[in-house]
Amino acid sequence: MSGYDVVVVGGSPIGAAAARHAASTGASVLLIEKGDGTGEPVRCAGIVSPHALEALGASTSSVLREICGGRLYAPGGRAIELHADTTKAVVIDRGVLTRELISAATAAGVVVRIHTQAVAARKGLITIENGRAREEVAVKVIIGADGPKSAIASWFSLSGPKRFLVAEQVVIAAEGRVGDGVEIFFGKDFAPGFFAWAIPAEEGRLRVGLAATPGSDISILLARLLREQFPGKVLTRIGGLIPIGPAETTVADGALLLGDAAGQVKPTSGGGLYTGGVCARIAGQVAGDSAIGNAISSAASAGAVDLEALSVYERRWQEEIGDELKFGHAARLLFSALTNEEIDRLFAAIDVPETLGMIAQNGDIDYPSRLIDSVLTQKKIRTRLLSAIGGWSRAQDLIRIAFASEGETPI
Ligand SMILES: Cc1cc2nc3c(=O)[nH]c(=O)nc-3n(C[C@H](O)[C@H](O)[C@H](O)COP(=O)(O)OP(=O)(O)OC[C@H]3O[C@@H](n4cnc5c(N)ncnc54)[C@H](O)[C@@H]3O)c2cc1C
Repeated sequence: MSGYDVVVVGGSPIGAAAARHAASTGASVLLIEKGDGTGEPVRCAGIVSPHALEALGASTSSVLREICGGRLYAPGGRAIELHADTTKAVVIDRGVLTRELISAATAAGVVVRIHTQAVAARKGLITIENGRAREEVAVKVIIGADGPKSAIASWFSLSGPKRFLVAEQVVIAAEGRVGDGVEIFFGKDFAPGFFAWAIPAEEGRLRVGLAATPGSDISILLARLLREQFPGKVLTRIGGLIPIGPAETTVADGALLLGDAAGQVKPTSGGGLYTGGVCARIAGQVAGDSAIGNAISSAASAGAVDLEALSVYERRWQEEIGDELKFGHAARLLFSALTNEEIDRLFAAIDVPETLGMIAQNGDIDYPSRLIDSVLTQKKIRTRLLSAIGGWSRAQDLIRIAFASEGETPI
């Protein structure tokens, strides 16, 4: 039986980054990916902050465009323009990013096996399959970076994230309307509980999609958005789940969860590459360091790292991004509770040059709480926002409704 200190299941940019970090501790690392390792077809809008690439340890070779602003649409049609002096986000070719990070993992000494699927796992042992060949591998730490419906989570009796948004996106050959900025559409007629987007990507291409609470007919909503706003030829179409709200716990005896499997996704934007990059560094280091201390053994589970040692991972990632994810979760629930008319009035309240300038300059897609903090400390803006929703008693109502809606239909 072969054996490794760390086995990473899932070869997305996040799994590949974790594998590279684990190898940098001196641990022996196997990365398995059931697909072909090219990262195609891409299930992502590919918009990240420049920090996300740094967090993943990636170069800028995947960057297609820099984004300094965009246009936000209220349900009633009001559009507000935001423009910053600096790059707020980049649009990437995610396939290029995946391939870069898998190559970097290989260069760091990780053994990468594509077309290889984990089919069973327990403490100290993982069973992998390539075609018809089945193999048992002794392992001290398994990193489950295997996506929103993680098999590693269920084999280790971890609940994983409990709530999801459903998402669909197309790439279209845009007829004319490819600006430099992103376009975001809010309101229940576009995307109940979230938003729809149009992102300029490769020359003449737009990524148009939406995410919404489960039960929404996202295909019909997307078809309408395309018909009314973006009538270009559809070239590709993907669907996916976006975890909303972290898993209760992300560690077990001999395994830890990472990325979508752990619900490490920003609830306000659905973006998981920055948060996954931050957590991949911690996961790789903790898995590698703790595994090296244990002797590997072919007697299953003898060398596996226990829950207590791996709890360092949960503590450290919670310290770095836990509060921001909790803030995002609360903010999304509150936003979902607003009526279309209230969103319209909030748009009108911020549609003042001075406020828009402040939002554009201070906005940080990885840390929305910083913008909200800076906006709410301005008494004038705070008063305008509060009166837009009908005063303090309605604000209290919204908080109550938002938290009652924790009971959104789980998938
Ligand atoms: C429509 C859509 C748009 C998005 N847009 C953005 C965006 O613009 N910016 C952003 O930051 N985030 C975005 N996200 C979220 C982002 O894509 C995810 O957060 C990120 O991909 C999570 O990476 P992951 O490694 O956790 O999971 P995944 O990307 O799902 O990767 C899991 C990998 O594990 C492999 N795998 C699964 N099971 C096994 C197994 N048993 N054995 C071996 N391999 C296995 C899969 O083949 C896959 O390669 C979007 C998501 C969706 C659905």
